[in-house]
Amino acid sequence: MVDRIDGHTILIGLMATPIRHSMSPTMHNTSFVKLGLNYAYLAFEVGNKELPDAIQGIRALGMRGSNISMPNKQKVLPLLDKLDPVAKMVGAVNTIVNDDGVLTGYTTDGTGFMKSLADENLDIRGEKMTIAGAGGAGTAIEIQAAYDGVKEMSIFNIKDATWANAERNVKIINEQTDCKAQLFDLADQDAFKCEIADSAIYCDSTGVGMKPLEDKTLVSDPSFFHKDMIVYDTVYAPRTTKLMTVAEEAGVDHVFNGLGMMLEQGAEAFKLWTGEDMPVDDIRNILFADAK
Ligand code: NAD
Repeated sequence: MVDRIDGHTILIGLMATPIRHSMSPTMHNTSFVKLGLNYAYLAFEVGNKELPDAIQGIRALGMRGSNISMPNKQKVLPLLDKLDPVAKMVGAVNTIVNDDGVLTGYTTDGTGFMKSLADENLDIRGEKMTIAGAGGAGTAIEIQAAYDGVKEMSIFNIKDATWANAERNVKIINEQTDCKAQLFDLADQDAFKCEIADSAIYCDSTGVGMKPLEDKTLVSDPSFFHKDMIVYDTVYAPRTTKLMTVAEEAGVDHVFNGLGMMLEQGAEAFKLWTGEDMPVDDIRNILFADAK
């Protein structure tokens, strides 16, 4: 580390809370070393209250940019100078790029999700998708998948504060893409079963299955699933969620946690900051070995 950091080292941040568990510093710093790039990536414990000062700090310190995670992904929007069109549509930012004091916000969660499927040689364009959740991750996945060519989408949400997001997502998708989207109350379990049965992919973007809900799943009955489908949980800690166990019990061919999405959203941010391709195969080996 002493050899690596010098007077020219360019800083990139991660602003979120809680943040100490994050795998992003390992992912990016290992990539910088492998490619011989003079950058350093550090995690900062930043909540909504500290966010305006922290964002101003990117400009003041001449940082190249930052990742943004919960609870700041929506709150950061008015603090930036420009928004990438997809970030604007999604209404959330997970990556900031600083070009000579001009901060542009991007979201790489949706493209990361789609790229992680492509890495497995899976293509959901032209297919039907059922997805639970319409928060930050769910919205990014829904908008990107619709833009990339998913034919039909059934979104299930509980009647909480994100219900309005789900309504907005359905409206945007139906108005601005060729995908036909519908919104359902997750309480309607008959519809949930029916829509999953008719889908090529079921994605859970709710975080149910992660602490403190690690023993929970929205689908506990394996008969909801069919063998030749994809079941995708955006959660990556634990590595095997309850949902994945149920899908495996059902003999589902393609069952994934969120590590692939995590890797690819990071790779896209890396490219935005450095202009270089992240050495994803090396990083995949490290992330997948480390994940618990
Ligand atoms: P969020 O708070 O913005 O949205 C949460 C969504 O889940 C909402 O739609 C909410 O209605 C729903 N939800 C919450 N509790 C629920 C419950 N008990 N039953 C049913 N629905 C419930 O959160 P987010 O930022 O979208 O993150 C969601 C999950 O996605 C987290 O587990 C996060 O770690 C994961 N994530 C993964 C990646 C990745 O790269 N793999 C990236 C972003 C987020």
